[in-house]
Amino acid sequence: MIYLDNAATTQIEETALDAMLPFLKGEYGNASAVYELARNSKRAVFNARKQCAALIGAAPNEVFFTSGGTESDNHALIGAYEAWKKKAKKQGDGSAVSDGAVSAKTAGTMPSAGHIITTAIEHHAILRTAEYLESLGVSVTYLKPDSDGFINVSRVLEAIKEDTFLVSVMTANNEIGTIEPVCEIADAVHAVRNDILVHTDAVQAYGQIKLDEFAKHVDLLSASSHKLGGPKGCGLLYIRDGVKLGPLIRGGMQESGRRAGTENVPGIVGFGAASEAAFAGLDAKMTAECTLRDRLLAKIGIITDVIINGAYESGDFSKRLPGNISVCIKGIEGESALIMLDRAGICASSGSACTSGAREPSHVLKAIGRADDEAKGSLRFTLSHHNTEEEIDRAAEVLSEIVDKLRNGKKHL
Ligand code: PLP
Repeated sequence: MIYLDNAATTQIEETALDAMLPFLKGEYGNASAVYELARNSKRAVFNARKQCAALIGAAPNEVFFTSGGTESDNHALIGAYEAWKKKAKKQGDGSAVSDGAVSAKTAGTMPSAGHIITTAIEHHAILRTAEYLESLGVSVTYLKPDSDGFINVSRVLEAIKEDTFLVSVMTANNEIGTIEPVCEIADAVHAVRNDILVHTDAVQAYGQIKLDEFAKHVDLLSASSHKLGGPKGCGLLYIRDGVKLGPLIRGGMQESGRRAGTENVPGIVGFGAASEAAFAGLDAKMTAECTLRDRLLAKIGIITDVIINGAYESGDFSKRLPGNISVCIKGIEGESALIMLDRAGICASSGSACTSGAREPSHVLKAIGRADDEAKGSLRFTLSHHNTEEEIDRAAEVLSEIVDKLRNGKKHL
């Protein structure tokens, strides 16, 4: 099998598995209890908090473990809304709450239900949550990217309204791999209004590119363990010290009261170990993946009528994730190519894993201007440092044969 779908999930790193095993066996203490067995779990969770915090330049007490990227994204958006509502209520009239803003009541208008800014290319964990907030009366601006996949900083500033309480822009796109200018956006927003929270969904970027300056810029950041060789079902939300955020999950006082529920100690320990390994080997990993990415793309480029989705420059991983390739191949159905690739033992994806199976062309490809028939021929290959040149060459060869067959009306290799 040749696994080229690392944006969907990754194989578990040996270091993560080894770190987890004791906590799946004898070290089963509840991290919140007081005896020695529990203290081992507590220490292990604290150690993981430090390991994860290092990747984003945060303090350990600013990292809160969750069940994954989806929960972290939900918590960031819904929690920001809850905090905004509470602040507005305290102000006494449920109105816009920006510091120094005129209240809706005194201005004689309808009370505001708040406003958030996000982008049209976010993962569904953000988009569906934004839709939920809309159902509560919040207005949402969905910013469009340019044709290279980038969100423009001044567009974000232009979208700010009196009652804006949150800006959420992803760090790297899960389909086309483009890296957004998130720190620049956060600084620009804070320069205009420091009461607006800036969140970034860094699920695809955490452990793949350098984020160690991020905690200096953003207020909230989501990451997920299974995208960097950790176990599934674990993630984190970075909450900058002092930021007020409502809880998403109510119950006990775990995670300093920010996220209730008995800690998933083995998952957290594995996430921490995978983060530490990714941090230590990041330069080598980025270079290895980028070299493989460029090699595969050069070979795919030989096929006629191939469009690369999102900005791409050989050797560069400042604008695009080092392991991401997204292309539209004219005259083929991406879904048919995926089935044929699978028969040849190659795992890839068309659009994001969470939407494959859905026939609709990807919202991301549409947002960067791909026509429906172009978007239907999309394929995504996401590589890891575990892939080899031989695998890349084999995948390119098989893909080329598949494209020939599909263009000639054949659905079998
Ligand atoms: N955000 C992005 C950008 C993602 O790519 C994903 C998963 O693919 C998620 C959020 C959801 O993360 P999880 O699978 O940990 O819930």
